[in-house]
Amino acid sequence: MYTNYRLRTASFAFSFVALGMHVWGKGYGEVAWAMLALQFLIYPHLMFLRSRHANNTQQAEINNLLIDTVLMSIWTSFLQFPVMIALMLWNATSINLTFTCGLVGISIALLAVATGIAMSFLAFGSHFSPATGSPVDLLCWVGMSCYLLAIGNAGYSRNLQLRTTRERLRRGEQTLHTANETLKWQLEEIRERQAELKEQAIRDPLTGLYNRRYLETILTRELARCDREGEKLTLMMIDVDYFKRVNDTYGHQGGDEGLKKLAALLLESVRATDVACRFGGEEFLVLLPDMPLDIGAARADQWHAAFAAIAIPFGGVSIQATLSIGIATYPEHGASPNDLIGCADVALYRAKTSGRNRVVPFEHDAPCAMRHAPCGQ
Ligand code: GH3
Ligand code: MG
Ligand code: MG
Repeated sequence: MYTNYRLRTASFAFSFVALGMHVWGKGYGEVAWAMLALQFLIYPHLMFLRSRHANNTQQAEINNLLIDTVLMSIWTSFLQFPVMIALMLWNATSINLTFTCGLVGISIALLAVATGIAMSFLAFGSHFSPATGSPVDLLCWVGMSCYLLAIGNAGYSRNLQLRTTRERLRRGEQTLHTANETLKWQLEEIRERQAELKEQAIRDPLTGLYNRRYLETILTRELARCDREGEKLTLMMIDVDYFKRVNDTYGHQGGDEGLKKLAALLLESVRATDVACRFGGEEFLVLLPDMPLDIGAARADQWHAAFAAIAIPFGGVSIQATLSIGIATYPEHGASPNDLIGCADVALYRAKTSGRNRVVPFEHDAPCAMRHAPCGQ
């Protein structure tokens, strides 16, 4: 806005000199001089004030250019079309409109020039005296050239501004892209970490088997599913016999090796749908969905025999241990998680009291004694 103001003020002042020389040469009266001063020395400031206070400064500026063109056209017509002055004023005002409004600006400029000529004809009549003196020609020539150069420079400045803005925008986009990628990567990290933490929360750190908390959740869910689908489910409670002795003989680390070996045996031989968990200490629970008691007992026999056959290498010696396993089945022995765990516990207790190193299924009529949870019987 201020650039336009300065350019307009300077070019109008220059035009004042050129037109003044012509007016002086032709001997126009004082009124013409007063109008000339008003138009070329005062008018640019009035127009600036007008557009500065406008709500839409862009539109006000276009309106100013339009008024400029009409007024310059009136002046050229009033002065009887001096060729060089007409060329300078028409070109300058038309270029201004074209620079601001493109092709539409050209049409508006033509219309404004025609309007100015028509108004002048109506006010002062139509006269034609195109000749101008050499000093005026020279001034117009210099003025026109300077104005074209100024317009060219303004175009260059705008281009430069546009390029800089584009570059800044491109860099901003790049930064945004990088930030987005980093955010995505961090989000992925957080997700992985969350999954890890979730997994850690349900796993026993020593054996890698599920923990008791997870078993209780999954057992409730599995029993509800078995109830809906009419399936059976077998639960095994496994306890290492005389494990205290293992610890006492080989140390706690030797005992840990035994626990890990048992966990590995269970992990490698359970089905994908089975859930093996460390219930606590040297006790394990295995949940076998869709499995009746007889097949469950056969599986328990296999694990029992397999573990007994393993010689666990530890510190140059081999540790050997046996298992006692109690079995209970849904729905025959219990319907709730507590009942079923209680029944497996009772069966395990019987395995222990009847000599250890064996698999014992729960029986309703056997005496009910338990070690962990209350029995549902
Ligand atoms: P039983 O045949 O009656 O089951 O006798 P037991 O010795 O196996 O049973 P008891 O309950 O007397 O001893 C279990 C031992 O298991 C006691 C405890 O120190 C040990 N224990 C519990 N958790 C761990 C563990 O994480 N690592 C090791 N090495 N030992 C453990
Ligand atoms: Mg034991
Ligand atoms: Mg025990």
